[in-house]
Amino acid sequence: MSKTFEKLQPHLEKSMALQTARNLFDWDDQTAAPFEAADYTSKVIGILSDEYMKSLINDEVRKLLKKLQDKKEQEELDAKEKAIVKELAKIYDQLESVPPEEYRAFSELTSVASRKWAKAKKDNRFEDFAPYLKKIIDYKKKFAGYRVKGDKRPYDILLSDFDECFLMKELDEFFDRVKQEIIPLLKEVAKKADTIDKSYNYLSYDIEKQREFCKYLAGYVGFDFNRGVIAESEHPFTTNLHNHDVRITDRYMENNLESAMFSMIHESGHALYEMNIDDALTQTLVGAGASMGMHESQSRFYENVLGRSTEFWEPIYEKLVATYPENLSDISLEHFIKGINKAAPSLIRTEADELSYCIHIIIRYEIEKMIFADEVTVEDLPKVWNQKYQEYMGITPTTDTEGILQDVHWSFGEFGYFPSYAVGTAVASQLYACMKEKMPLEEYLKTGNLTPIREFLRDSIHKHGAIKNTNELLKDVCGEDFRAEYYVNYLKEKYTKLYNL
Ligand code: ZN
Repeated sequence: MSKTFEKLQPHLEKSMALQTARNLFDWDDQTAAPFEAADYTSKVIGILSDEYMKSLINDEVRKLLKKLQDKKEQEELDAKEKAIVKELAKIYDQLESVPPEEYRAFSELTSVASRKWAKAKKDNRFEDFAPYLKKIIDYKKKFAGYRVKGDKRPYDILLSDFDECFLMKELDEFFDRVKQEIIPLLKEVAKKADTIDKSYNYLSYDIEKQREFCKYLAGYVGFDFNRGVIAESEHPFTTNLHNHDVRITDRYMENNLESAMFSMIHESGHALYEMNIDDALTQTLVGAGASMGMHESQSRFYENVLGRSTEFWEPIYEKLVATYPENLSDISLEHFIKGINKAAPSLIRTEADELSYCIHIIIRYEIEKMIFADEVTVEDLPKVWNQKYQEYMGITPTTDTEGILQDVHWSFGEFGYFPSYAVGTAVASQLYACMKEKMPLEEYLKTGNLTPIREFLRDSIHKHGAIKNTNELLKDVCGEDFRAEYYVNYLKEKYTKLYNL
């Protein structure tokens, strides 16, 4: 370790501790804290966030970072240290470019805006949220403008915060391909929607039994209960303090069997990623997943590619039937597999099936692109939104609540985030294709032996944390760059078979 890097260490440790504390409060806030705690906790979180910023953004760290970016100093660093320096430089680029008073004003704005959004969504009144959204967009344009370099455009800057490998050029190519092939497929499937009966899914399912079965599913895919816990929250999510403390949540609904099960498999996929990161990276800036997209590839690999396959359920379907014999004893495995894969054009992203999901993302991506290219006003957003749903899905939202107001992201100022969901889904299909070449994946699933699958992902992806980016990981595992056709082919094959097209 270089002398300069050694001097950086205590600063990194302090910032890590502050961030861990902040994350823990966040987790507590969403899972265990009593209703009235929120306002007081947010004060604590605010102070911790401020201290976190100060622990990283200060003259001493700035000087050390500058020195460490020097060519000579770089030669003395190992791969892990280099990656940490790169990560720190990214944080500086994001945080230092914005004047502190503007950053503070923006934070205050978003904290008000997310409440206004929640109310506007409930009341179906976009006009009440619009003035806040307009201000948020103005800030984001300004902030991105501070960081624009070379031929990058403002929206590229926002995208790069979530995955440096997927900017507009890559996403345009990817999404054009998906639009060309998946929209016609979705329209074909829509015509045969009634051929699959899924009414069994909406019968009454005892919540306590759901909790138990979902816990079993988490363990089945490899969730390590010595390093992780499961709680409940309004929306399922994963948070990690470090690779020995990974926390996931789920939500149970009495009249929906699959919702909690697939959320649990999804969050377990995120959790496995974090749990399997190498101990050498624990509590460092590179001790988490490589990117949002890569993370989402792991959750979706487990949830959709494995979790919705016949082979996955073969060894465990009987256990599910035995848990709810009153509802499922007449439902064959084949029927169940059709049910969990039923697809149709839909209005709500979070409830979308595997086939239509990507279209929801493309609509948001195209609208965000228009916003940051000044091609649409905030007032016109609902109209543009509805037109796109009509064009791509063949359906139009009747209210803004089930249209433009449905997602929370913009109220936080999170633009550029949505594409990671689609990138993750597509990366999952590419991994699936290359893993099938390397191992008898389906045999493993059929015999309930998920260990070799988990170990493969651990050794080729998880253990590297954020040392490598999405493209580097894909190249290492599959020997090639990201390619959209794996995803398109996966969906075409799966749905042509499922619906006898
Ligand atoms: Zn996820």
